[in-house]
Amino acid sequence: MATICVPVRVHRPEELSGAINVAAREGDLVEVRADYLAEPEVVLPIVRELPDDLQSRIVITLRSAEQGGELPHSHDVRRAFWTRARELPNVLFDVEVDLLQERDLPFDLGRVICSHHDFTRVPTDLEKIYAQMAATQARTVKIAVQANDAIDCVPLFKLLERAKRERRELIAIAMGQRGLMTRVLGSSRGSFLTYGSSDEESATAPGQITAQGLRSLYRIDSIDAETQITGLIGNSVGHSLSPYVHNMAFADADLNAVFLPFELDDVSAFLKRMVRPGSREINWNLRGLSVTAPHKATVIGHLDWIDEGAREIGAVNTIVVEGGELHGYNTDAVGFIRPLKQRNESVAGLRCAVIGAGGAARAVVWALKAEGALVTLFARDKAKSETLARQFDVSCRGLSNATFHEVDVVINATPLGTYGKAEHDTPATSEQLRGVRLAYDLVYNPSETRFLSEARAAGCETIGGLDMLIAQAVEQFKLWTGKHPNVDVMRATARGRLGIDA
Ligand code: NAP
Repeated sequence: MATICVPVRVHRPEELSGAINVAAREGDLVEVRADYLAEPEVVLPIVRELPDDLQSRIVITLRSAEQGGELPHSHDVRRAFWTRARELPNVLFDVEVDLLQERDLPFDLGRVICSHHDFTRVPTDLEKIYAQMAATQARTVKIAVQANDAIDCVPLFKLLERAKRERRELIAIAMGQRGLMTRVLGSSRGSFLTYGSSDEESATAPGQITAQGLRSLYRIDSIDAETQITGLIGNSVGHSLSPYVHNMAFADADLNAVFLPFELDDVSAFLKRMVRPGSREINWNLRGLSVTAPHKATVIGHLDWIDEGAREIGAVNTIVVEGGELHGYNTDAVGFIRPLKQRNESVAGLRCAVIGAGGAARAVVWALKAEGALVTLFARDKAKSETLARQFDVSCRGLSNATFHEVDVVINATPLGTYGKAEHDTPATSEQLRGVRLAYDLVYNPSETRFLSEARAAGCETIGGLDMLIAQAVEQFKLWTGKHPNVDVMRATARGRLGIDA
């Protein structure tokens, strides 16, 4: 079982007891952050009044401003605080190394977590910092440093291995979205605890997710050294639905497997240092990866074998670690075509307009061609669309003022309409879509896009991107596990995340 510590960060003393009780329901330990209070000492009588069993689950912290404390408390205030706090009989103390080294302020080291934070990077002398902290003889060493890329987690996992060899209790956290895997996997690698907030608003460090998310989404309590690890690589994966869809399907199938977001820029370094069995620097049971922008084409050069379809498409969205090798597949193509075939007895001969000339458009055009559809490409970048059209032997046209009157199916393979800045954009209006039978939007967030509403206004049938998302995820699940997932669970999970009524 993982130990989850839930931080309490309130600015008003009268809110402290209530917040501690809420945190105690969510976590195994409760960290009381005294640095959020103008007068930190007010926490001490409140903690002293707690029942013994709850007191023994409390960690008291007065973080210095240099180490990420909320309010700037002077060295004298910190000393005065700890002089009184260390008299509390049952609690743990999270103390920075500078105070621990002050000889006239002795602590019961058996109750001390000696901590170090770096909110900018993973320091190159991490091992040295660890050794200095371990030399304090505090029961636990805590190192929390900022990950600026998923590969920044490597030194943290190595440190956990070292601490295990040296029989030292260590908390090793890589902060930020790019360090999430240390929060989820750390406990199974020996980290003394991991932090989880009681709700999304009360996180105390970058990248900290909720205790509930750790337990129900990532099933942290059942992760062990055998757990099959899968995940999504991309340079912006924080809003992806894939962790929800795959983790809920793993749980439903009762598989010892987890799916994590891996946010990174340097795909080559990630594959070498964390993925390829012959060269990776961490010991984990990595089974496969989902690949998203901008890595779908660049991963190809790093794989040992590529499925013929993925090679022809020129994009890999799924990697399977098979023995010592990395195998590449593209499940976007089958994911795209399946919902279309469910609506049309035959795709052969359908006149299809594909808008966009990026990675998804490549899979769409390839899948349509394979089914015998008649494809025309519409893109804003003439050179790009001409190259793609030549490669797949289809025709192409410019996007501005395009009309689709002689087309059966129009497919949006651009991000226009996606939640955020482009949400109110559409690649075609109802006027342009009049006479079209079916409009298919690859965008799935929001589920109701402007393109789909323009299409309905023009009298078209519609397919949203969620069907493709689920269909391609089903194929990924099969490749990684050899089993068929519960599609209803995947769909319901995605719909729930998108706020679509069941
Ligand atoms: P991509 O490689 O970045 O390509 C995007 C394409 O859209 C490019 O051709 C780009 O043109 C074009 N584009 C972008 N903004 C445009 C605008 N304002 N006007 C006209 N064209 C524009 O992205 P992708 O991987 O192909 O993905 C495209 C969309 O499909 C994304 O929204 C993605 O989420 C969605 N998708 C959905 C699924 C699913 O399962 N439902 C799967 C894959 C992708 P330039 O080349 O000129 O920039």
